[in-house]
Amino acid sequence: MLDADFFRRWMAATAVSVDREAERLTALDSPIGDADHGSNLRRGFTAVTATLEKEAPDTPGGVLTLAGRQLISTVGGASGPLYGTLLRRTGKALGDAAEVSGEEFASALRTGVQAVMTLGGAVPGDKTMIDALVPAVDALDDSFAAARAAAEQGALATTPLQARKGRASYLGERSIGHQDPGATSSALLIAALAEAGGE
Ligand code: ADP
Ligand code: MG
Repeated sequence: MLDADFFRRWMAATAVSVDREAERLTALDSPIGDADHGSNLRRGFTAVTATLEKEAPDTPGGVLTLAGRQLISTVGGASGPLYGTLLRRTGKALGDAAEVSGEEFASALRTGVQAVMTLGGAVPGDKTMIDALVPAVDALDDSFAAARAAAEQGALATTPLQARKGRASYLGERSIGHQDPGATSSALLIAALAEAGGE
């Protein structure tokens, strides 16, 4: 079973890896964006960890809804509302249970990913974070490690794609040949899950 502490560890591990990889995320956002993805997420997840420490929600749903709200209010770019929606809607789907099973979490995360698709209008293959998140959710029933591998694979597979959503889509065919920054940060988010689970 996964308790609030597990979800706090997930957010903390994400904050550490986003901080460590911020320059790389911003570098990826340079040729096909506006070079702010790393700083956007660093600001967002730093605020998330600070708020979680201060308010210390005691349910999985409470941790994720608070984290999502915090991302929405601190990240100006497209990724703030999108990641915020992902976490908030996943948290809402978890309800107010003190512990949730791996299956319940996988199903809640699927609801969160669907909410991101509804909000942003992206489908798999559009060269966005969805290209890492959808395969991750599909693999989550197996293990966190399988989800991590699927997300990393999904992020790498965005390179040859032409962007159809977000800032990168303004470049048309010139977006081809670059890995998507949001898919890359989504792979970090899912890798942090494996870390929080001790895998
Ligand atoms: P901005 O584009 O506003 O500068 P960021 O640089 O923080 O925001 O985030 C860019 C990332 O957001 C992209 O790499 C992509 O993965 C993701 N993204 C942008 N638009 C969408 C969308 N409509 N649906 C899903 N993901 C999107
Ligand atoms: Mg950007």
